[in-house]
Amino acid sequence: GVDAGRVRAFIRRFAQLVAEHKDELTALDAAIGDADHGTNLDRGLQAALERLPGEGASPADLLKAVAMALIAKVGGASGPLYGTAFLRAATAAGGKAVLEPTDVAALFRAALAGIQERGKAAVGEKTMIDALAPAVEALEAALGRGADLAEALAEAARAAREGSDRTIPLVATKGRASYLGERSRGHRDPGSLSAALMMQAAAETLA
Ligand code: ADP
Ligand code: MG
Ligand code: MG
Repeated sequence: GVDAGRVRAFIRRFAQLVAEHKDELTALDAAIGDADHGTNLDRGLQAALERLPGEGASPADLLKAVAMALIAKVGGASGPLYGTAFLRAATAAGGKAVLEPTDVAALFRAALAGIQERGKAAVGEKTMIDALAPAVEALEAALGRGADLAEALAEAARAAREGSDRTIPLVATKGRASYLGERSRGHRDPGSLSAALMMQAAAETLA
């Protein structure tokens, strides 16, 4: 099962991957937005690491601390969206000390639903949803056919990356990039890359 130690490792790895890809995320946002996605998310996740509760914290406590840091520190569209995702995940984790594979899938499903309720984007609008929705579907499908959590998360991470790739030819209809209309075509959506990094972190640490 996934205990608080694994959840902590996931948060650390997500923060590390965003730090490593900070310039790339910001360059993508420079092309179709306002050149701040990497710095925004890196600032928020570094703040999250500083505020992570210590020994004895439950998975929900850890996820909630990340949500609060992201909401307070990121700003922009992605702060409230990722913040909502982590808050919903914390609620889905409830008081459990150990999460089973189906709980993990429910957590990611809840996170996705939170982002969609808040941001109102569907698949194909060139946002982080284009990475997250196929990832959650792949995770559920893999578990449904009896794959273990490691394999299911690996498939989810691959689906997220492919979903991010598919944003390149799309015209953005949500977020700042939508102001560009046709000129948003031909560029990867930055939030879809950070979402793929989050799923990569999950695959590397949760199982
Ligand atoms: P801002 O655009 O306010 O500067 P960021 O640059 O941090 O915020 O984040 C931009 C990313 O947020 C986009 O690449 C996109 O993936 C995501 N995004 C923007 N609007 C929405 C939305 N309504 N639903 C889902 N994701 C969105
Ligand atoms: Mg931006
Ligand atoms: Mg901004």
